[in-house]
Parts: sequence; C-alpha cells; structure tokens
Amino acid sequence: MIIAVDGPTASGKGTIAKALAAHFGLPHLDTGLLYRAVGRQVVLNGGDPDSEDDAAAATRFPDSLLADPELRSETCGGLASRVSIHPAVRAALLERQRAFARQPGGAVLDGRDIGTVIAPEAGVKLFVTASVEARAQRRYLEMRERGIDATLETIAADLAARDERDRNRSQAPLRAADDAVLLDTSRLDRDAAIAAAIALVDRALG
Ligand code: C5P
Repeated sequence: MIIAVDGPTASGKGTIAKALAAHFGLPHLDTGLLYRAVGRQVVLNGGDPDSEDDAAAATRFPDSLLADPELRSETCGGLASRVSIHPAVRAALLERQRAFARQPGGAVLDGRDIGTVIAPEAGVKLFVTASVEARAQRRYLEMRERGIDATLETIAADLAARDERDRNRSQAPLRAADDAVLLDTSRLDRDAAIAAAIALVDRALG
C-alpha cells in the first residue's frame, strides 16, 4: 500500500506522514529533505541555487548529508524551494522517490507532488492544508522552542512566498490530486490531526 501525503509547508503533513507510517507499519520518506539537501549542497559547492546547472550538480549530494540537522533550518527550506523549480533537479530525484514508493509492502511518502507525479497509483492520497495564520503560528512556536528569533509577520510572509513559488512553478506544482482526500488541520492539534488522518486512511481502504 502506498500512502501519499502532500501539502504546503507547516501544514502538519510531515508529522501526519510519520504517524501514519508508524501506525500502518510502513517505511516513510520525507521527500522535502531531498530538496533541502540539494539546496544545502549548492551552497557547499559555492554555487547559485537559481542556476539550473549548479542545482543539478548538487543532486549528487552524499547520503550522509541527509543526517545534517542544518537541513531543517528555514534557510535550507528557502533554498529547497528555489532549487526545486528546476526540471533537471526534479528529474534527478524522481527515480529515487519512485523506487522508495514501489518497494514491496508499500510506503508512506510526503511532499508536494507525491499523489500527482511520484506515485499517482497510490492507494491513498491525503492533501493536508491549513490557513497561513495557523501555519505561521505553529512555525513561530517551533522556532521559539529552538531559540530562534523571528516575528509572526516575517514567518507568515516567508510561508506565503514559498506557497506562491511551489504552486506556480511549471514543473510538478503543489496541488491536490483529483482523487486526494483533503484534511484541513487549521483547528486541529497534533493528536487530533493524526487521528483524523488515520480515520481517513482506514475509510479509503474500505
Ligand atoms: O516539505 P519541505 O518544507 O521540507 O520542502 C522544502 C521545499 O522542497 C518545498 O518548499 C518545495 O519547494 C520543495 N519540495 C518539492 N517537492 C517535494 C517536496 C519538497 O518541490 N516533493
């Protein structure tokens, strides 16, 4: 069984995907981490994230980079959003994600284009959303916990800019697959969002 979980930044899709993987006993791939690794590698190479050649070269990052905590930073999120625009980057990361999705027994993948491009054959597709305000508030609390200084306004502006880029790029834009089930987490806490996702998967599986 393949479970595809797509949605914008800070919608809760990563938390939900991880919980679904644990609940259904499936391996999980956070595909955003691959794009973050490309963004980080471009910088390590001294390249330009907006250059398709530089970004494509950075897709040959070492696997050890995936364990770098720096990948979780807002800076790497922004870099990921810039390198993910390039068709050569998406093409280079495609097979790795497809192979993960198609492993025997199935998998849970979360990202932006899992249900539309990576695994259109997925048995269950969730599209997780939340208002910009709710997402900014979550990110703000998360950052404060990590001791990072930022205002709610700058976080909201950054999220909106990233949404805009992800939704309007020509290659694999962020959008719900026609057969995806929508899950709005704006008014749900972590546990309620996870419970709702498990219920939706159970229902989709009949
Ligand atoms: O999910 P996360 O915030 O880690 O993703 C970082 C960026 O990587 C996104 O803003 C998006 O531009 C890109 N991405 C993508 N396709 C995916 C996963 C992430 O384009 N499947």
